This record gives sequence, structure tokens and C-alpha cells, in this order.
Amino acid sequence: MGGTYYTITPVSVRTLTIERPQFVWGQGWGTDIQCPALMFYVEGGGRRIMVDTGCADPEWATKYHKPFTRKPEQDPARALEAAGVNPAEIDIVVATHLHWDHCYNHELFTNARFVVQRLELEYAASPHPIFANVYEAPTTGMAPAYSNTRFEVLDGDHDLADGLKLIFAPGHTPGMQCPLINTAKGLYYIAGDNAPLYENLEGNRFGRPIPGMIYENLGTYYETFRRMERLADHVLPGHDMKVLDQRQYG
Ligand SMILES: [Zn+2]
Repeated sequence: MGGTYYTITPVSVRTLTIERPQFVWGQGWGTDIQCPALMFYVEGGGRRIMVDTGCADPEWATKYHKPFTRKPEQDPARALEAAGVNPAEIDIVVATHLHWDHCYNHELFTNARFVVQRLELEYAASPHPIFANVYEAPTTGMAPAYSNTRFEVLDGDHDLADGLKLIFAPGHTPGMQCPLINTAKGLYYIAGDNAPLYENLEGNRFGRPIPGMIYENLGTYYETFRRMERLADHVLPGHDMKVLDQRQYG
């Protein structure tokens, strides 16, 4: 892993109300949950890295996905500024996956390299029809937000920098990758949508992790969950409001 210590700062660019079973497989029917769309700013050893880049604007979401609210301070550029981040100074952007609520706003990061898993890029271009909309895939008539992005494609686990490793983590999508980050407080793992809430990690009454509802292969997803538990000292979920209770991790 290496000895460089990083800090991790979550930045929210929306508040969405959805039905709870979408995030907590088979549980919470008839109840809603409020969730942010998160970017994570990772800084350490002179490097500045963004993990995911947020979603489209509310008008687009209302037309093609689900309506959500965005306060003025949740505008991506303003939210980054408030967190002390200058997007032009970002060295690397990591796309955990290519769903529409994680890969917008690339144009803000004018000097960054962009990294994604090869499998994710390929799958996003031709997903199962059930997932066409969430990828804004060509069959929907939409052009994905990253159409003008020149990605560096990765195949599996990847040492991104000293103390920062990308873990190939198929589950929520076939080509997910999740950063494992060395900090002064141990190894943090950004689970993204593999664990949208802390509730997924806490598990069910039998002590087993609870997946979200969106996945292609439940067996693979479960293996990824178990590997995450082995690797990480701390896990940050992808859509939990409680992540924002702390300004910085590590
Ligand atoms: Zn997703």
C-alpha cells in the first residue's frame, strides 16, 4: 500500500428522496430515504484526487431519471469551492462506475487524468436493457455525460499512488472499482454504490451484509462485500447522509 497518509472529504451535490428497498435489498418497504450524491476529495502526498464527480442538474434528472432538489450551495462548482477544492488542481479523477449520478461534471476538472475500469466502459456502452437508462446508454438516445472524456482504462486492481489502491469490485455494476486509501486512522474504503448506506454494512439480523437492489450478479456482489470487509478498516458508503456528519476522514 505504501506509507503516504491521505484525508478524504465528502462533497454533496444533491438531495434525493427514494424508496428505501432500492438501497436495502428487500427491506424497508413503504418507507422513503433521503440521500446525497457524493463526490470524495482525496488529498495526500502532494496529490489531489476526486473519486466520482456527481450527477446531472435537476432539470435533466426530472426529465430522464428522478426529480431531486439541489440547494444553491450544492451546485457542483460551489460545493467544491466550499470544501476548499479547486477542480483545476485535481490530478486524477477516479470513476467508481458510470451510472449517471456519479460521472457528470468532468468538464470542471480541466487538468486531470480520468481512470475507469475497462469492463465498466464496455458494459456502459451496451448494458442489459434494464440498466440502459441509469447508464444513459446509446440505446436510450442520450449521449453519456463522459462522451468527451479520454479515459485511461484499467484491468483489475491497480496501484494508483503510494498509499492508494483501486480495488476491482464488481457488484453494483460489473466494472466497479473502489479506492482503498491509507490514512492516519487506518485504511478507508470508498464503497460507492456497492454499499449505498451504513445499513448495508451493519447487515441483517443474521449478521450478513445486505446488498442494494441494483446489481447484475448477486454471487459476485457478495464476494466483493466479503473482500471489502477483509481489506478495510473503515468503509464510506456511497449515498448515506450520515457520511456528511463528518467534514473530513482520515
Ligand atoms: Zn450506481
